[in-house]
Amino acid sequence: MTSTPHPTDLVDPFGRVVKDLRISVTDRCNFRCTYCMPEEGMQWLPRSEILTFEEIERLARICVQHYGFNGIRLTGGEPTMRAHLTTLVAKLAAIDAGGRPVDLAMTTNAATLRHCAHDLKVAGLQRLNISLDTLDREKFARMTRRDELGHVLEGIRAAKDAGFHPLKINAVVERGVNDDEIVDLARFGRDEGLEVRFIEFMPLDASDAWQRQQVVGQDEIVAKIAAVWPIEQVPARGAAPADRWRYLDGGFADGGGTVGVIPTVTKPFCGDCDRVRLTADGQFRTCLFATDEFDLRAALRNGETDAEIAGRIERAVGTKWAGHQINQVTFVRPVRTMSQIGG
Ligand code: SAM
Ligand code: SF4
Repeated sequence: MTSTPHPTDLVDPFGRVVKDLRISVTDRCNFRCTYCMPEEGMQWLPRSEILTFEEIERLARICVQHYGFNGIRLTGGEPTMRAHLTTLVAKLAAIDAGGRPVDLAMTTNAATLRHCAHDLKVAGLQRLNISLDTLDREKFARMTRRDELGHVLEGIRAAKDAGFHPLKINAVVERGVNDDEIVDLARFGRDEGLEVRFIEFMPLDASDAWQRQQVVGQDEIVAKIAAVWPIEQVPARGAAPADRWRYLDGGFADGGGTVGVIPTVTKPFCGDCDRVRLTADGQFRTCLFATDEFDLRAALRNGETDAEIAGRIERAVGTKWAGHQINQVTFVRPVRTMSQIGG
């Protein structure tokens, strides 16, 4: 196990430098969000197919030490469903990046965060994104198929108390479902000092029911917010998926905070993408919408060296496409859904 003091850039065929690894730690979830999972009938991965913490840590370390990755995000399924998650966080936080900072973040539905926010922070998790699509208890129960709004709000409070700052809220917007709450959710963010990021509904739902008409696009979302508060766009998104706007008026806890939109469908940001993904069963993906996967679990379990595995990662990145094709007739949905890939 040698560390690589001078990592080389991992460059894809379109000149984008890959820097960010999204790791799904489980395909299981305690919610059944309508835009992500079916009510019942999900087939869970068998335990033996899920990467161990040691396997996840090894792949993350190769990405950080061989290729200078500077971001790792844990996701799922619901990452907090994975037993002893803090142990994994501590292992990832301890990766020697040769003095370079590695941003360690997680996306969660926060249903049980009140129990673990503090421990996750102590273990070395730096940032949290919490998903919250509605502030209405009944609508929440319809959208997630779980009556858990109260616990999610407690989880947000626990995350703030644990010192996660900035704290971001992810809200998927679906026409006719929660688009009437865009301003309410933005106001919640302002009152609580949180950055709300609205996400355009993507064709990754398990029921294959996605229709373009259900997508509420960035322009519409921003217009609704701008009708209530003066805002100005924050320049330069870089590789981050969200476009951001700054509130120009005062009087809120956010103290001139920001609001974001992730416009995957109406304004794809593939040209700036620096991400790759690892599924819970060790399949490496170069795009959320990719139709190909590269089996790193087999490589790990066949005893390959770090250099051999790094070679596999390089070859996989060599196939990264220019971008998804949601807006073209040639678009083919990936076989796996959002919760199975890791959003
Ligand atoms: N369970 C965690 C959560 O919900 O935060 C992490 C995994 S979830 C798949 C990651 C993010 O993907 C969440 O913010 C969720 O709202 C979003 N998501 C899931 N299905 C989506 C879809 N069809 N379109 C857009 N975003 C989606
Ligand atoms: Fe679970 Fe997250 Fe999918 Fe909702 S979006 S079902 S919380 S994985």
